[in-house]
Amino acid sequence: MNAENMNTPFEGHLLNFDRQHIWHPYTSMSQPLPVYPVTGANGVRITLADGRRLIDGMASWWSVIHGYNHPRLNAAACQQIDRMAHVMFGGLTHEPAIALASLLVDLTPSALQKVFFCDSGSVAVEVAIKMAVQYWHATGRPDKHRLLTIRCGYHGDTFGAMAVCDPVTGMHGMFSRVLQRHYFADAPACRFHDPWDEKDIESFERIISAHHGEIAAAVLEPVVQGAGGMRFYNPQYLRRVRELCDRYDVLLILDEIATGFGRTGAMFACRHAGICPDIMCVGKALTGGYMTLAAVLATEKVSEGISSGENPELMHGPTFMANPLACAVAVASIELLLSTPWEDRIRRIEAQLSSELAPCAQLPGVRDVRVLGGIGVVERTRPVNMAKIQKRFVEKGVWIRPFGKLIYVMPPYVIDEADLRQLTSAIGEVLTEDID
Ligand code: PMP
Repeated sequence: MNAENMNTPFEGHLLNFDRQHIWHPYTSMSQPLPVYPVTGANGVRITLADGRRLIDGMASWWSVIHGYNHPRLNAAACQQIDRMAHVMFGGLTHEPAIALASLLVDLTPSALQKVFFCDSGSVAVEVAIKMAVQYWHATGRPDKHRLLTIRCGYHGDTFGAMAVCDPVTGMHGMFSRVLQRHYFADAPACRFHDPWDEKDIESFERIISAHHGEIAAAVLEPVVQGAGGMRFYNPQYLRRVRELCDRYDVLLILDEIATGFGRTGAMFACRHAGICPDIMCVGKALTGGYMTLAAVLATEKVSEGISSGENPELMHGPTFMANPLACAVAVASIELLLSTPWEDRIRRIEAQLSSELAPCAQLPGVRDVRVLGGIGVVERTRPVNMAKIQKRFVEKGVWIRPFGKLIYVMPPYVIDEADLRQLTSAIGEVLTEDID
């Protein structure tokens, strides 16, 4: 512990208050795991209250792609806050929203022309589902109101989104009486680099051919299934999904909330398959991890369908819709991304993760090692002991937060070779210790 920082308020009452009054994500209020107080973050380093500085392997859950405390994003936030932090979006508009929508329309596949701003990834998924259901209602086919998705998916924690999360690893058990029932196809088994096996699409095809009369949309994470298992599947699966959605008149919603803005090596993961969805959700890295903001993009077909209905309004409008501060930072983040050699950086991270994590596959208790773009995953045969492993990672000077059987990293794109090596070394070392 750094002597200078021994007397931070975190040593006592703040941490106590936190423990007694504040829920952390997916955590018990009565038996929480320890939390580490943070006093600052800069570049790829997170500073703890005791003075330790950790190399960040998580990019704060995919979002902090440029690193923390970035001068360009800070400047964008300061300039915007001096003009206006917020104004309602009903009946008003502003330059940050227009600039951001324009960037998103340019950056995403060209058929996506209409933009809806909302608060978070989960809400974006709700809005996307609403768009799909409203589209079919407006175009005279109200029976098409159910969804088709794939197992091992994750789309957020609100009820609409939860209903399309994996029914086993998601929260279906506890909330089954409240959740809408949808169709689940088998998760793709063909991995990203495997040769394509047409059998992979059979389950999806069987369901869509039998039930398309009641299916409004298929909802998928493209190529990378994140919180549902960190799985990387073959882009041909997505191409086949697109074809089947077209054949059976089902809309395709792609959830690019985790994959968007370069993480997989393509600006959006659907580019690996060369397809365009009817509706796309983006979030997380949209603001470079500065604040919460998400967007739903839709094609003219979807927007015209909705507009042709008896009630042409899209029935959604959150209080902080298109928050100017968040939009201004998002504009700066996208401009920064486009001005940097992000593809080279992701390629470099991918190569280094691949070579340095590969030896982990030989360690006892490891089932699989996989890497795609700026994402590296070590899957164990058994779940990790979170309290133990988290402490060991912090002692090794890295911030890596496993879940279940998965130890994974998706660092900020600006991480250098030495810092990335410290992350991969820490994973290798911890795996040889007693972490069960
Ligand atoms: N979709 C995907 C693919 C995600 O990874 C997440 C967040 N982990 C969400 C949706 C939900 O986003 P948020 O946490 O911002 O609500």
